[in-house]
Amino acid sequence: MNVPRNQPTYDADEILDGIRDWVTTESPTVHIEGVNRMMDKAEAAMTRLGASIERLPGIDGYGDIVIGRIDGRQPGPGVLVLGHLDTVHMVGTLDDELPFRRDGDRVYGPGIYDMKGGMFTAYYALRQLLRAGETPELPVSFMFVSDEEVGSPSNRVRIEAVAKQHKYVLVPEPAKGETGMLVTGRYAFLRFIVRVCGKPAHAGAQLTRGRSAIAEMAQQILAIEAMTDRERGITYSVGVVEGGTFVNVVPIACSAQVLCVAPFAEAMDEIRANMAALSPINPECTVDVEAGPVRPLFEPSEETLALYAEAEKIAGEIGFVPGHGSFGGGSDGNFTGALGIPTLDGLGLMGDGAHTHEEHVLYSSLVPRAKLLTGLFRTLT
Ligand SMILES: [Zn+2]
Repeated sequence: MNVPRNQPTYDADEILDGIRDWVTTESPTVHIEGVNRMMDKAEAAMTRLGASIERLPGIDGYGDIVIGRIDGRQPGPGVLVLGHLDTVHMVGTLDDELPFRRDGDRVYGPGIYDMKGGMFTAYYALRQLLRAGETPELPVSFMFVSDEEVGSPSNRVRIEAVAKQHKYVLVPEPAKGETGMLVTGRYAFLRFIVRVCGKPAHAGAQLTRGRSAIAEMAQQILAIEAMTDRERGITYSVGVVEGGTFVNVVPIACSAQVLCVAPFAEAMDEIRANMAALSPINPECTVDVEAGPVRPLFEPSEETLALYAEAEKIAGEIGFVPGHGSFGGGSDGNFTGALGIPTLDGLGLMGDGAHTHEEHVLYSSLVPRAKLLTGLFRTLT
């Protein structure tokens, strides 16, 4: 076949080979060696593109982050591709509940949809452009984050500082729904740790003297989750509980991690007030609430919507209309969108089942999404 010169070429199997290499390197946020192995791969990939590399050592017990920069035709500020290489899947998931496998159009694996698949596809999109002898219009930087799945506590400041040096932020987090919708806004996320203290006693001999922190927490959890207001889109959920030492000891300590979602600014204040007001149901127990990392509200600005319009035009030429919207799942795009930097999120692959053992991407989305990203690198000015 006669391929015209200077046209980037795309091969779905080639993209999938690269994705397989990344997905089969397990990298749960808490597994520093795994996350850093992923950072080695990202660094090597960006180096092969001729990028200048900055690798920042991990802080607070998290993995490193890697930033790779490529020059554009014009000087900066340029385009930042922002994404994470940590996943929620523990080491061993790959050999057990979620092996890498293809079943028709679906390709399964830990973190394939959220978001190693998207991050690799974005890299491939830039690589094919460069291999065709083209230079992106603006400089393009890739920032690979190590702790997104726990709220990016150690990297928020770094992300914000790097994003401020750029004109646009593209986030290849999972595309939404059946049309592969892009994300032009995200709800705020607030995390809390609730700690309950009880009163000690031997659970066999002197049970009535003790006050169980677990029993108190059980009631607190029901009270916390009952504050969910589906009509206004405000949710409270407890995802992690820890408590007790031995079965024959009345548990004196129990902690719970709470994730709250706020679709609008006033809901954030309401959630903070409600969580601060938690009080013991059994007056002989104590309840303490600590606020954790917050993902600020990312509201669709005019500039972000203009960025979407540009993407829609490119997608139309490829042959699809993604659509867009605001969604509940948080990402590092919350930080940059909240700063007012035009941010287009959800640019990753189509699929479903993020954070579950059904996590998969659609093979048929690999090439169209790569082309969309190349189009953005080519045209954003
Ligand atoms: Zn993600």
